[in-house]
Amino acid sequence: MTNHLIDLLRSRQPDLSRPFAEAPDGTVYTYADLERRSAQYANALIALGLAPGDRVALQVEKSLEAIFAYLGTVRAGGVFLPLNTAYTAPEVAYFLRDAVPAVFVCDPASLPTLAPVAAAAGVGSVLTLDAQGRGSLAQAADAAPTTFADVPRAADDLAALLYTSGTTGRSKGAMLTHGNLASNAFALVETWRFTADDVLIHALPIFHTHGLFVATNVTLAAGASMIFLAKFDPDGILKLMGRASVLMGVPTFYVRLLKSPVLTPAAAAGMRLFISGSAPLLAETHREWSARTGHAILERYGMTETGMNTSNPYAGARLAGTVGLPLPGVSVRVVDPVNGRELIIGAIGMIEVKGPNVFTGYWRMPEKTAAEFHDGWFVTGDLGRIDAAGYVQIVGRGKDLVISGGFNVYPKEVEGEIDALDGVIESAVIGVPHADFGEGVTAVVVARPGAGLDEACVLAALEGRLARYKCPKRVFFVDDLPRNTMGKVQKNLLREQYREIYA
Ligand code: ATP
Ligand code: MG
Repeated sequence: MTNHLIDLLRSRQPDLSRPFAEAPDGTVYTYADLERRSAQYANALIALGLAPGDRVALQVEKSLEAIFAYLGTVRAGGVFLPLNTAYTAPEVAYFLRDAVPAVFVCDPASLPTLAPVAAAAGVGSVLTLDAQGRGSLAQAADAAPTTFADVPRAADDLAALLYTSGTTGRSKGAMLTHGNLASNAFALVETWRFTADDVLIHALPIFHTHGLFVATNVTLAAGASMIFLAKFDPDGILKLMGRASVLMGVPTFYVRLLKSPVLTPAAAAGMRLFISGSAPLLAETHREWSARTGHAILERYGMTETGMNTSNPYAGARLAGTVGLPLPGVSVRVVDPVNGRELIIGAIGMIEVKGPNVFTGYWRMPEKTAAEFHDGWFVTGDLGRIDAAGYVQIVGRGKDLVISGGFNVYPKEVEGEIDALDGVIESAVIGVPHADFGEGVTAVVVARPGAGLDEACVLAALEGRLARYKCPKRVFFVDDLPRNTMGKVQKNLLREQYREIYA
């Protein structure tokens, strides 16, 4: 037996002297460096007592050393568990108690706070790694041998335990296998036509499926290279476009890049592909980007539990407001959330997926796992429809559906009408407890400064455009919608904020 994920990621490895990644300080790491450095991390972890299947949890700033530690963990037969850098000590305590990792790595500055937290959770070893890739873990790697015989792992062995973003409730640990990660990486290489000549601008966090698995594994699977940025920086990205070929971003990247006058067709001329995901891309952003750069953003859809499920096509039409077609090997269907029956083309229902990308279950939550699978299909929690050409359109999360007076109101439809009004930048429609209607449709709107919009004019503009039961009962104006680091609008915070308006 071999190490399934590592062997497959190596299968198109280029000449070892070719670059794998350029660090923020300009240092270039070749594929040979990647092999050596990940071997050192694997050796260091084994020396700490890591056994196959043990979790290695990290809450560290973004660095290439953290990427080498990820690959070292997988080579050593471990299960990689990255944690959002924004989590506070009590949150980290929850994850450590839940996942019981053998090793926990944190920023040296957090060590005084987190070492006792880790000890209380029963974690064996606590080490450090900082934003420059220095710390006791890196030192242990420095001292370790540069070659390593990969620990054998099969396709159905775990490679990662990745917690969901916690947008709709407490984060759940998704158990991802070697086979899940490998199959998804190659499906994306094929769909997005990645080759060894590609240079990816990597500006995403690496504690999430997007920056860790989509960006990094696709680069490795294609034998390509990446320019690794510490964080999203629009000016830095605009400067790099001349020597890169692909950008992967969340929608807010594109919104912010559009604000720069430097974004012109000439600036983007050398780029091959702009990809967006993790949150809905406004059709308006898609159109503006095409007008400003001549490139149609390619939107795709995925989640922690499944990796990527659908993508707009590379060669065919990239339709704004859709997430495209199922990836090779992945099946997508839409069912009636009440009776579970598959729906006809165009009807809105629950999106379910099946394929080699789908995780094996939630860590230590067998009931939750059982509840989210339906006849072997994973119930995504997202509502959507599939058109006659097979394009999937997401209309929102099941948990965000508003039921007002017994009628289903899909927030996306109402948001679309509001966003189309002059002077509106964006909006979020939520359901708020209402004594008569159960839930009252409520709009939270970000208007352009000086647009002169008020509640009455938004309500008047919607009258006649939307059935009465879909029209908001109240409209509120805010400067910004609350978003998490992946650019997801946190509707739970809005629901909380406006909880008592109809009381
Ligand atoms: P939790 O499951 O803990 O509530 P989460 O669902 O936000 O958090 P992730 O796994 O990071 O955690 O996000 C997956 C979700 O992101 C999808 O279920 C979907 O709702 C949303 N999403 C991802 N890509 C897109 C997209 N292109 N368009 C619309 N929504 C998207
Ligand atoms: Mg989710």
